[in-house]
Amino acid sequence: MPTLRLVQPKYIEPESIDFDIDEFRRALFQKGRELTWDWATSCPCQMSITSTGRSSLVSQNRIDCSACRGSGIIYSNRQTTIGMLTDAMLDQKFFNLYARYAEGSVFITLLPEHVPCLNDRFTLTRGIVVYEETGMRHSATVEQPRFPIVKRAMYLGSESDPTEPELTEIGVLYCRAAGLNGQILPTEYEENVHFTVTDDGEIDWTLAGAGAPPIGARLSLRYYGRPCFVVRGFPFIQRDLYQNNASSMDTRYLGLHPIKIICVPEFLGARNPPVVGDVTVPDTYPSQDLP
Ligand SMILES: [Zn+2]
Repeated sequence: MPTLRLVQPKYIEPESIDFDIDEFRRALFQKGRELTWDWATSCPCQMSITSTGRSSLVSQNRIDCSACRGSGIIYSNRQTTIGMLTDAMLDQKFFNLYARYAEGSVFITLLPEHVPCLNDRFTLTRGIVVYEETGMRHSATVEQPRFPIVKRAMYLGSESDPTEPELTEIGVLYCRAAGLNGQILPTEYEENVHFTVTDDGEIDWTLAGAGAPPIGARLSLRYYGRPCFVVRGFPFIQRDLYQNNASSMDTRYLGLHPIKIICVPEFLGARNPPVVGDVTVPDTYPSQDLP
């Protein structure tokens, strides 16, 4: 078989990298956004199926898995990083499919030491977004919604004098439940009246006592949370280059480049459910007939 040999120039000038990584590092620490970075690794757990006396493993992840909770992904190595978020885009054609939410994307640029992988998760530590969701009550007293609730501090006009600003913390904006028969319950559950929001962003129903929505009831929540993004691609591949010293071709310097990745917001169904490494399976997780 022939080898297709390229014609090489007779003389090659010393390679020069004009990107100044030190200047970029300074700019990033000055103007970048603080992010929490969770590493994502596929969970090795597998469902086993028994049929007509024969058992075999299938590629589906186990819903009772304590590491991934059935999502198929283990999160680990949570740490803080700094990134530049650019080119937030919206794909308009998805409006028809998703009604209120359209699938968007954002580029995140990171320093070369922090190379992420597909499905890694970045949370804007100071960003705020309003989430709304409907889920089932599983736990007796303290329960975590899909994303941790953020108690947002705001200056609002005080009740007695709206011209006087008053520092107020709000986490949950609206909360309703439907009883076990599926019918809506009349109570509009209020923060600090029926429940409190813990420092971990969970709902503690101690205040409501017997008036709390029953376990198994469906619960709708509207609350403040942090925006999360999931890595979906690497359009700008990482390059570790060696730079020649112009005066002496013998000396070469390592010249690392920043990483630019494309991410999508997690709440648009990038996966379900999102979990972090320390999440444990609730005691009353719906029972499944697992082999
Ligand atoms: Zn698993």
